[in-house]
Amino acid sequence: MKIFISHRVQGQIDDLLKPGYEVVMNPHERSLTPDEAIPLLSDANGVLWAFGKLDKALIDAAPQLRVICCYGAGSDHIDVKHATSRGIVVANLPDEVTDSTAELTWALLLAAARRIPEADRLVRSQEQFRPSLGLMVGTHLAGKRLGIVGMGRIGAAVAARARAFGMSVAYHSRTRKPEYEAAYQMQAMDLPTLLATSDVLSLHVPLTEGTRHLIGPAELARMKPDAILINAARGPIVDEQALIEALEQKRIRAAGLDVYEHEPQVPQALRDLPNVVLSPHIGSATNETRCAMTRAAVRAIVAVLDEQRPEHIVNPEVYTR
Ligand code: NAP
Repeated sequence: MKIFISHRVQGQIDDLLKPGYEVVMNPHERSLTPDEAIPLLSDANGVLWAFGKLDKALIDAAPQLRVICCYGAGSDHIDVKHATSRGIVVANLPDEVTDSTAELTWALLLAAARRIPEADRLVRSQEQFRPSLGLMVGTHLAGKRLGIVGMGRIGAAVAARARAFGMSVAYHSRTRKPEYEAAYQMQAMDLPTLLATSDVLSLHVPLTEGTRHLIGPAELARMKPDAILINAARGPIVDEQALIEALEQKRIRAAGLDVYEHEPQVPQALRDLPNVVLSPHIGSATNETRCAMTRAAVRAIVAVLDEQRPEHIVNPEVYTR
């Protein structure tokens, strides 16, 4: 059985492989081109796919493929419909990434509120800075409302950390979450009310046709002029051009972004703005999380190759086709 791993991953997996299993990993610190990937896919039975599109052509380059495991929670970069039509199980890793992505969300939130990247650039640009009471004045979090859109695993982990900062939490999700409401003393509300009343709005929905441009010009216009928008979910959930305009015109205070609409491209207009904190899609990038992800992914792939059901499946309908 051959398992192909699309990118160099961290973590020890030898003990998870039985005799007869072979792992082939992209040897480079970059994505493979389709011409490089196709020969490696040609006899693969399982694929661990980290990022970049795994489209129909690449899936069809692997005629013996039985399982794809996404290296993360999101599966929007995989042609799941086509995989399902071929009877290929698509697994994902929603549990391993929760804490690291929630921590990154808070890192962006704190950095945006206290203007940390701007402050860092200022200190580096001068031999000594001029002390002034107007220097890098940010905004305070205690007593403010954190609005969370998408109360799933990461949304709940972000909510859990809010009390430490003295923030109240409200949320909007597809369905009510009474257990989280009780645990984090939060209120559920419709999206327009959440937009209008949150001091920080943090997005944690998956990218689907229903969430593409969920935050566009009308939604940004409803936000408070002093509000901060955080997106560590997926870039296309926000209309990036509308966000740039809202930030340029100071219709909202700031944004913290880990993801971009046309990743890995980031518009120059966004990079030129002082009131944004930008990170390069590193929600899961901690050593602990990456090692846990690699092991969980290999376990999921081996499970399918051993005729067992992995814990998290994106396309459960593959078993009832
Ligand atoms: P999750 O547990 O599936 O939670 C997603 C939540 O969004 C669910 O509660 C769902 O509601 C809600 N939702 C879905 N569609 C909605 C809509 N149209 N309106 C309102 N709420 C909606 O997923 P997760 O593990 O928290 O991850 C969330 C996303 O974060 C992933 O899909 C991924 O794209 C992104 N992510 C990014 C990074 C990064 O590196 N930046 C890392 C990990 C994950 P129901 O519960 O009612 O279905």
